[in-house]
Amino acid sequence: MSAYIVFFGPPGCGKGTQASKVKDELGLAQISTGELFRKHLSQETPLGLEAQKYMSKGALVPDEITIGMVRERLQEPDARQGAIFDGFPRTGAQAKALDQLLGELGAELCMVVDFKLPMEESRRRLMGRQEGRADDRPEVIEKRLNDHADVEASVMPHYRARLGLIKEVDAHGTIDEIYQTVLALVKTCLG
Ligand code: AMP
Repeated sequence: MSAYIVFFGPPGCGKGTQASKVKDELGLAQISTGELFRKHLSQETPLGLEAQKYMSKGALVPDEITIGMVRERLQEPDARQGAIFDGFPRTGAQAKALDQLLGELGAELCMVVDFKLPMEESRRRLMGRQEGRADDRPEVIEKRLNDHADVEASVMPHYRARLGLIKEVDAHGTIDEIYQTVLALVKTCLG
């Protein structure tokens, strides 16, 4: 059985941290589109330089580029048994494309973990983040936070029709507390 799972939530909700912990413990691939874009940029690939035009403003990278990159990433061997998608999908078109990409692999989405955190708390966390990300500047943070409502409105209706697919997780609390909840959920996809 393969476990393909979307981690959804506002910037700063901790979904990347949780995805990384799940990857380490269960050996599922972590497919973080933000990380992939940052890696491309650090290697100065054409894709990375193109994505940077959008990322620096806190805007979404166009679907075609993003979906193409995910398609390639899914071909890698570590994604064969499953993957946690972190920061993807962010548009309705990406959500549809993900279904199609998984279908091509003979798989389907097992779960959407929806991390719940009020905007105030997301803002507080992003302002305090020490990773030195170029897009963690106050004006870009505000844009990313405001845009999240649009992202949610574009993506979640795609999944709400599928009974039981979405699992809400309260993203307050310590990393380890949340991880116990997340791990238990993810394990139900492993059969
Ligand atoms: P993140 O690390 O998920 O906060 O993403 C950082 C930036 O990368 C975002 O602000 C977007 O510019 C870009 N990005 C990441 N994932 C996506 C996506 N699924 N669709 C479009 N742009 C994305």
